[in-house]
This record gives sequence, structure tokens and C-alpha cells, in this order.
Amino acid sequence: MPSLKRILVTGGAGFLGSHLCERLVSEGHDVICVDNFFTSQKANVAHLLAEPNFELLRHDIVQPLWLEVDEIYNLACPAAPGHYQFNPIKTMKTSVIGAINVLGMAKRCRAKVLQASTSEVYGDPEVHPQPESYRGAVNPIGPRACYDEGKRAAETLFMDYHRAHRLNVRIVRIFNTYGPRMNPYDGRVVSNFIRQAIAGEPITIFGSGDQTRSFCYRDDLIEGMMRMMAAPDDFVGPVNIGNPGEFTIRELAELTLQLCGSSSTIVHRPLPVDDPERRRPDIALARDRLGWAPTIALRAGLERTIEWFRTVNLADYRPPTPNY
Ligand code: NAD
Ligand code: UDP
Repeated sequence: MPSLKRILVTGGAGFLGSHLCERLVSEGHDVICVDNFFTSQKANVAHLLAEPNFELLRHDIVQPLWLEVDEIYNLACPAAPGHYQFNPIKTMKTSVIGAINVLGMAKRCRAKVLQASTSEVYGDPEVHPQPESYRGAVNPIGPRACYDEGKRAAETLFMDYHRAHRLNVRIVRIFNTYGPRMNPYDGRVVSNFIRQAIAGEPITIFGSGDQTRSFCYRDDLIEGMMRMMAAPDDFVGPVNIGNPGEFTIRELAELTLQLCGSSSTIVHRPLPVDDPERRRPDIALARDRLGWAPTIALRAGLERTIEWFRTVNLADYRPPTPNY
């Protein structure tokens, strides 16, 4: 029986956050979910509202927050390129000011705090696969920079609070993750392809489709993140959490069409600026320190995700809330 804690999940109503809340509630912890619903909806956590150990708070982490908790998972931040570029200045504020607010709270109540960082800190990588020691190749003035540089600055803040205040921090670098409860309109490749394939609409490949990504199923990711929170205190990270299976975007399109039994055509659209050419995590550190490795292959994960997409009423989803 694990010891029960008071746990705050910022961004807890989002795709990953809602699944994390579910896991923590089922383990009996007292869970506070904080979200401004910028890229999510209450429906993602509606099934938890009746649980006595779950509490939902509408709050924007750019504003300070006063709570008493033992652990914090800081996930609040739009994650899909279309979402984080919707209001890039707000994205940077969420990453940087949000981190300062969360770290300040952790310092006051001596809470352990985990940052959901990203493979985007490696930018368009010249080193492949990417180990944590690689410092990255980020364009600081491009359209992705609000997210990439925001997350890099947040990592800096986490390490400085750790060194200056001996705060118990953890940093996980998450690689592309997919699964049920993704926002079908978030514009990410997996959600776009599945939505398009089910509807019989053309599949939109940006560029040639030769660029690669490594796709991690949601449950594997959450397991890795929770292991990192529970890791010995001398292991701060950053640690890569992702699935090292690497696929071209064309391969993903073909597999999605096959699994959906769809006869959608494939169309090509221009490649977005600074779109990374390839991406694959080196997960040796996670294997070694967390005993973690992904267990769900792309085909199996896609099947589960497609099954969920078939149950979704697209009219329940809306574009990001204007939020300035
Ligand atoms: P998501 O957009 O579904 O979830 C983010 C949540 O944060 C949403 O519920 C959103 O409303 C909320 N939010 C945004 N700004 C906020 C603010 N200022 N105050 C309070 N809440 C705010 O995305 P996700 O895929 O669940 O990502 C969760 C975290 O994981 C993010 O920090 C993201 O950067 C990180 N991450 C995700 C992936 C991935 O592939 N899913 C990859 C790398 C990193
Ligand atoms: N992509 C695509 N078609 C789409 C959406 C995305 O070809 O409809 C490509 C995109 O250009 C990128 C890859 O898929 O090369 C992954 O994009 P996503 O937005 O999911 O994540 P990220 O670029 O942040 O890894």
C-alpha cells in the first residue's frame, strides 16, 4: 500500500493530465487538478468529479496559487504546435511564469515537483537518437521557439531552485505521446490522421513524409512519469521518456489507413517552418535508473486510440479558447 499524498496536477484536465489524475485517484491519493481549459474540456475529468479524493480548480498558472500539497506534477502548457502557436506570448508566460509560481509553491510547502518537459528542447537535432546530454539545436526566433525556449527556460528554473533552495525537483523530457482523450482537433499528426481516416477525408502529410517521429502510448508515458516522481531523491533528471520505435510520417499514415480500414487518399501540404527532420529518444537512462521501458507497440496503441476516436462526438470539441 503506497503512502497517500496530497498531489497537485497542473494541466490536469488535458490529454496526459487527465490520465495521470485517474491513476493517482485510483491509488487513493488526494488529487487537486488545476486547469484553465485552454486546450481541454471538463469532460476529460467529469468521471472523477464524484470521487471524494478528487478536486477540480479552474485557475491559470500564470497567476500565483496558494495550496498545501506534498507533490506537484507541472503539466500545464499547450502541447500541440497549433495550440502553442495560437498565442505564443501566452505560451511563454505559461512555461516561465507558471514554473516560477509552481516552484514558489513547492518551496513554501517543501513539495516534490516534477516538470513535464519535452523532446522539443533538442530542436531539430543533429545527434540521433537524442540522449539527455545533447544540448539541442533550437531556433530561438522561429515560430516553435515560444514552446521550445519556454520549456528550456523552465528546465533552467527547476535546476536553479534545486541548487539554490535544495528543492526536490524532477524533469522528464516527453517525446511524442498519443492515445485516447487527445483533442481530435489539436492538429497533432496522430489525431489528424485518425480523424481524417475515419471520416474518409484526405490524409494531410506535411512535406515529403520522410521526417520521422517516435510515438509513445499514453499509459507507458504516465507510468514512466510516475516512476520518475518516485525515484530516489538523487535522481533529478532530465530523463527522456518516449518510445524508441521510429517511423516516418508516411509510414504512420499508411498504418493508420490500414487499421481504420479507410480508403482516404493522401495529400501533401507544405512542411511547417523548423519542423524537426527526425526524432528518437535514447532511453538508456530511464531503463537504468527507473527500470522503465515502453510496453505498447505503435500498432497496438493505434488500435486502442482508433477505437476511442470512433466513440467520440466531434461536436463536443472546440478550438482553443482565446486567452490573452
Ligand atoms: P494538453 O494540451 O492536452 O494539456 C495541457 C493542459 O494544460 C490543458 O488541459 C490546458 O488547458 C492546460 N493549460 C494550458 N495553459 C494553462 C495555464 N496557463 N494554466 C492552467 N492550465 C493550462 O497537452 P498534453 O499532451 O496533455 O501535454 C501535457 C504536458 O506534457 C504539457 O506540458 C506538454 O508540454 C508536455 N508534453 C506533451 C507531449 C505529448 O506528445 N503529448 C510531448 C512533450 C511534452
Ligand atoms: N504532420 C503531418 N500532417 C499533419 C500533422 C502533422 O504530416 O496533419 C507532421 C508534422 O509536420 C511533423 C509530424 O507530423 O513532421 C509530427 O507533428 P506533430 O504536430 O504531431 O508533433 P511535433 O511536430 O511537435 O513532433
